[in-house]
Amino acid sequence: MLKLNTAIRRARYFHQQVDEAVTSFKSTLSNPELIRCKKGCSACCHTGAGVTEDEAELMASLINGGLSIDHGKLERQVSAKNWYSLSYEERGCIFLNENKECRIYHDRPAVCRTNHVLSDPKFCETKDGIEQTQRVLLTEEANMLIAASFIAAKKTGTLSALVFKKLQEKNLRSFSPMID
Ligand code: SF4
Repeated sequence: MLKLNTAIRRARYFHQQVDEAVTSFKSTLSNPELIRCKKGCSACCHTGAGVTEDEAELMASLINGGLSIDHGKLERQVSAKNWYSLSYEERGCIFLNENKECRIYHDRPAVCRTNHVLSDPKFCETKDGIEQTQRVLLTEEANMLIAASFIAAKKTGTLSALVFKKLQEKNLRSFSPMID
């Protein structure tokens, strides 16, 4: 029997369920080529993904395991009063590489797995700080799974805020023998 007794296992199991729902839904599409998302387009990676605490734990474990990130950028994202007060570059996800690809693709959050636009990708751009309306593919079952996981989660928040918190907790644990 599959044990879901750690945050990392739960997050990966959840991602597997979301992937299966997305794949199954896409297999029913008569015109899958209408999906405009392409590798190397990172527009939605500048809008601040929402994650659960389990997902943040998974991402923090990758960083603690040696994945390098720009910690200064993470701190600036967390301390910004308003996401769109940051420059476009500063709003880029800490997991993007220089080719605008996701460096944690297999462990990316669930919301990053269901983003499929049918409208022109130019409407996903937020360089001027304005979010525009897009036509998105309604991956209903996957969206329901995500909604349920957010309701069941102890904590949810932006990727940067929760990953920052998890990294801080880990630091506290390593420095203080009093904290379990
Ligand atoms: S985790 Fe990956 S897919 Fe999600 S916003 Fe960050 S770079 Fe983009």
